[in-house]
Order: sequence, then C-alpha cells, then structure tokens
Amino acid sequence: MSAQLFVVATPIGHLDDMTFRAVQVLKSVDLIAAEDTRQSAQLMKHYQIDTPLTACHDHNESSVIQQLIEKLKQGQDIALVSDAGTPLISDPGFKLVRAAQENNIRVIPIPGACAAIAALSSVGLPSDHFRFEGFLAAKASQRLQQLEQLQQQPHTMIFYEAPHRILACLKDMCQVFGEDRRVGLAREITKTFETIKQMTLGELYQFVSNDPHQQKGEIVLVVAGLTQPVAVTDDALDQLLGRLRQDLSVKAAAQLAADLLGVKKKIAYQRALELDQNSPDQAED
Ligand code: SAM
Repeated sequence: MSAQLFVVATPIGHLDDMTFRAVQVLKSVDLIAAEDTRQSAQLMKHYQIDTPLTACHDHNESSVIQQLIEKLKQGQDIALVSDAGTPLISDPGFKLVRAAQENNIRVIPIPGACAAIAALSSVGLPSDHFRFEGFLAAKASQRLQQLEQLQQQPHTMIFYEAPHRILACLKDMCQVFGEDRRVGLAREITKTFETIKQMTLGELYQFVSNDPHQQKGEIVLVVAGLTQPVAVTDDALDQLLGRLRQDLSVKAAAQLAADLLGVKKKIAYQRALELDQNSPDQAED
C-alpha cells in the first residue's frame, strides 16, 4: 500500500523555473504539504494544479508528521514543497523526510531551483568544494563567533542573509576574514533586479553601503575559503609583479597579483615597491 513522498523544488523568483516533472508530480499526487499554503496556492494557480494543500511548517511539522506518514502508509502520494526553492535547504521538511525514511517510505527528490547552488554557479569562486552555512545568527556576538570558526577553513562558503542585516554581516566578515577576501553577491536571483557580482569583501561593503537597492531583496553571499599563503612562493610573487609592472602602476599590479595569487594586497603592494627600488628603470607611478 505504501506510497511515495516527493520532495519538489519550486522557483526562487522566476515562475518559469519550474520543471515539467515538478508540475506533473504536483498534479498527480493526492496531497501537497506546503510550508505556507497561501504562498503555494499562487504557484498552483499559475500551473493550474488543483491538488489539495495542507500546511507543514517549522511550527507544526512535528505534529503533522504522524498524520502524513499514516496517509502515505494508506497509499496516498504526497509532495512536499517550501515557499521557494528546494525544501529542507534552510526550509522545513527534514523531520518529515526522516520519518518517511524510518518508515520505509520511498522518498523521491524532484530537483530544481536552489538559491545556494544558483549563486555558487554564477559568482565565479571555486566550486569544487564548498560549505553551505545557511543563515548566520542574527545576534552580532554569535555571528562573529560563527565567522571566527570559519576563518581558517579552505573551502568556498555559502551564506543566506536577510537584507536588513546585510551591512552588519559584511562588516563582521571584513573584520574576521579580512577586507581582501573574495566574495560573491547573488541578490534577487532570477528576478527583475538581479545582481550577480564578485569582488573583495571591502569593496562589496562599500558597494552595498553606497546603493540602498543592494540592501533589499533576497541575498546569497558566497565567500572564498582561506587560500594558504604558503602555496605562493616569494619567487612566484616577484615574477608576476615584475611582469605586471611592465604595463601597470604599482597599485594596479599589486591588486592583480593579490587577486591572482590569493596573497594580501598590502603584502603585494609592499613587495612591488621593494622591487621598484631595486630596479632603477621601472617606471614611476
Ligand atoms: N529553500 C530555499 C533554496 O532552495 O534556496 C531557501 C529558503 S531560505 C528560507 C530563503 C533564503 O534563501 C533567502 O533569505 C535568501 O538568502 C535565499 N534566497 C531565496 N531566493 C533567493 C533569490 N531569488 N535570490 C537570492 N537569494 C535567495
């Protein structure tokens, strides 16, 4: 009799980002368990899906799980959706999926949009290894503590952030990771005023401070992991600076060398000045 629980991803902005299979599944199941039934009703209306909806969110998940598991055991197929994107990714659903697994109910993912993956795929930071951190703590002291624990780790980190905390969060990131650390901003992904950018944390703080539009909407921050300075030899830095100084000012050469080699801008700048002093024909800035 046992039926199936489908975990269905829905769009994170652009309504067309719904897969054909997601629509088919939502039309065919007996019940849709939704984080917010009013929110999901709009999506269902758009796709002419008239399957009944029931609420399954953080506050009632524990109490509705047993009812949903009973329905599944009786042979009713159920789809789980969240307000946007992939359920369970900083969204409810974990307890239901775990209960389904424990009851030997088949769980079928219907993949689709996820803000974290969309951001990672577009900001141009290393994507071979990454850590999804979700939301940082709202309280500044806790947030700083969380960031300090991540300061040394080498993999790209993905954070969700609320717009009213973006500046405070970037300020803390500058303090803990340093202003030279590369960061990607993916804001309002798939929506009209989408922003996808990559720069240093110091530059992003300025960019967001100077433009109130960037302090609104839905935001993902993708922060580069710590690049090991030992990986860069003095020779490699000298050679690169020597070549770059043929065409660029000390400042521009140092910035580019720092970006390319992952060394601190101050160190590259200092070394470029030293090399200039030892090389009399180098053009003055
Ligand atoms: N389950 C969702 C997913 O798969 O991405 C995430 C839900 S979480 C409650 C909401 C957060 O995801 C937002 O605060 C924001 O950080 C991020 N997010 C969702 N949609 C986004 C979008 N269109 N652009 C940028 N970030 C988005």
